[in-house]
Amino acid sequence: MTAFKTLDDLGDLTGKVALVRVDLNVPMSDGDVTDDTRIRAFKPTVDELSSKGAKVLLLGHFGRPKGEKNSTMSLSMVTGEVEEVLGREVMFIPEIAGDIVSQSLGIMRDGEVGILENSRFWPGEEANDVDFAKAIAANGDLYVNDAFSAAHRAHATTEGLAHLLPAYAGRAMEAELKALSIALDNPVHPVAAVVGGAKVSSKLDVLQHLVTKVDHLIIGGGMANTFLAARGVDVGKSLCEHDLTGTAEAIMDKADESGCTVHLPYDVVVAKEFKANTPSRTVNVHEVEADDMILDLGSAAAESLGDVLKNCRTLVWNGPLGAFETPPFDEATVALAKTAAALTQDGSLTSVAGGGDTVAALAHAGVTKDFSYISTAGGAFLEWMKGKDLPGVAALRG
Ligand code: ADP
Ligand code: MG
Repeated sequence: MTAFKTLDDLGDLTGKVALVRVDLNVPMSDGDVTDDTRIRAFKPTVDELSSKGAKVLLLGHFGRPKGEKNSTMSLSMVTGEVEEVLGREVMFIPEIAGDIVSQSLGIMRDGEVGILENSRFWPGEEANDVDFAKAIAANGDLYVNDAFSAAHRAHATTEGLAHLLPAYAGRAMEAELKALSIALDNPVHPVAAVVGGAKVSSKLDVLQHLVTKVDHLIIGGGMANTFLAARGVDVGKSLCEHDLTGTAEAIMDKADESGCTVHLPYDVVVAKEFKANTPSRTVNVHEVEADDMILDLGSAAAESLGDVLKNCRTLVWNGPLGAFETPPFDEATVALAKTAAALTQDGSLTSVAGGGDTVAALAHAGVTKDFSYISTAGGAFLEWMKGKDLPGVAALRG
């Protein structure tokens, strides 16, 4: 991996304007930001640029306004929360380029912070239009990308700008790339991957790539049902993509060729209906009845998977092992997460996880702080797990 520049490569920035792409696509309810994780993530980068003397202009998108101004998706709505997290005043600028922006810069002092309007209000953003990017770049001296979560998109503010101004990875981006690189580019073997979640179809490319990279592939969640069906198991009423059993077989064959061991559960938790605290049984996979639904891996499977992790040095995890939102179908996910967390704390395992529901599942297991790294980037994390070079990251390498 060719190196990218970081804030370490920057000296005094007095009189300069830094255009900083961040993730402002924060969860909101009734006009309030309900989770400020993404804002806290870019604070170190903003603080550092500001203390070097730069005027800092934040760029970001919110929602899907489809290239048109839409007052319900204005970034003015998040400005108050950004001020609170940064602990300073922030100027909201209702444009992204042109005179309004340059005039605002005229009244900002060195070290001050502004937020430009939602980049997706302009069609040039998603089209990665060069003229649009040039108009934004005209008000800046350097570009910093601190939004790994948007780096799988080749948009003007995530990719185009990097070609027009000196470009740097922000601190959050840098930390994310380092953690991910340790886990898959150059990992210490043996490497285990846990892939769970609802459907094989949403993660086909991930599975195809991982079998060539890892020593152990642990399959859980609804997608394990498709693999079990491919092995001739009758999965009853379980979520299962019967049309993909051939694909599942091909993945297992490819794993064999690559020396990757695929782990499927031999016991599972089943119920007659999918609701909280409904009667459930733990059964061997060959004992699933026609009206049963598999909703979690069994305790024996969870324990033996824990033993697999004990012999591994690196773990990459995406996707819960069961329908963890609905108790008691969270037990296998919680058990394996706790094992991984303990091994990480003992220093024998480097553990990296990501994915929207995975982050929630690991938080539910109470292990968020005990993993080596948990990525909050959903789509970008999955692209990375497919082995794809993300356009926003590639552009930083120049
Ligand atoms: P992520 O967002 O981390 O990539 P996914 O979206 O692929 O994960 O999958 C998460 C969903 O999969 C959860 O909502 C969970 O309830 C569901 N799930 C896991 N196991 C099963 C199962 N056996 N049957 C039905 N749904 C399942
Ligand atoms: Mg999901």
